[in-house]
Amino acid sequence: MDTSKKSPAELGQVQFGSATIAYTVERRRRKSLALTVYPNGQLAVVAPLEATAEQVASAVLRRAGWVLRQQEQAQLQQHYAPSPSPRRYLSGESYLFLGRQYRLRIVSATRPAVHLHSNYLQVSTPTPDDATAIKRLVERWYRKQAREQLTKSFEGILRRLPPILFNPADLPRLRILRMPNRWGSCATSTGTVQLNPDLVKTPVPCIEYVIIHELAHLRVRRHSQEFYDLQSRLMPDWQIWEKRLQELEPGMFETKGQY
Ligand SMILES: [Zn+2]
Repeated sequence: MDTSKKSPAELGQVQFGSATIAYTVERRRRKSLALTVYPNGQLAVVAPLEATAEQVASAVLRRAGWVLRQQEQAQLQQHYAPSPSPRRYLSGESYLFLGRQYRLRIVSATRPAVHLHSNYLQVSTPTPDDATAIKRLVERWYRKQAREQLTKSFEGILRRLPPILFNPADLPRLRILRMPNRWGSCATSTGTVQLNPDLVKTPVPCIEYVIIHELAHLRVRRHSQEFYDLQSRLMPDWQIWEKRLQELEPGMFETKGQY
């Protein structure tokens, strides 16, 4: 006979704006309460034995913003994790652009073209059965977008920077460079910021965060207090976007990214 005292699962839910957040509660002999969002998006709460259901609910509510962001990320990542399956360039596959997900739609047309159409990445091609041709079109589209979007963010940031930071006659330059496991890097000798074109798959503030991080490195080489002070001055909420990038990394890099 099974004499273990595994209690029946305790469930709860709270309403946060229009979102309903459901969770499981596990009781343990501990003092504080911990929230975990699993890769499948499920929220699990570990609570002290004596915490009331109301206390658990209000703790979840206090961190609702964080939970929803994690769940949104988990949803995005499910298309990548555990190991991204190779692209087949078939209709229905999902693609990221500026942090949003689009489904591939292949249509037969006389002239090849790639467009975003509401939630679709639409590839028009005279050879809709030729995956190699579609791959080429999609990759070319991403390269063009990377050039445009990264340049736009980079120039926008340069315009907003405090003028004392860089000599206006010698502003940092941008180079887009495929790097196996980094979002960005910089060359202090030439005042160049190098950005990974895959950044175009991440939300705009993530792109801005990497640019700001590298620009700060042009002034302060090491990750010192001075460096972080400067980075925080240029982007007060950088931590949010750093975390978001790290969450996106499993599908982008084989090893953990660094910048
Ligand atoms: Zn760094």
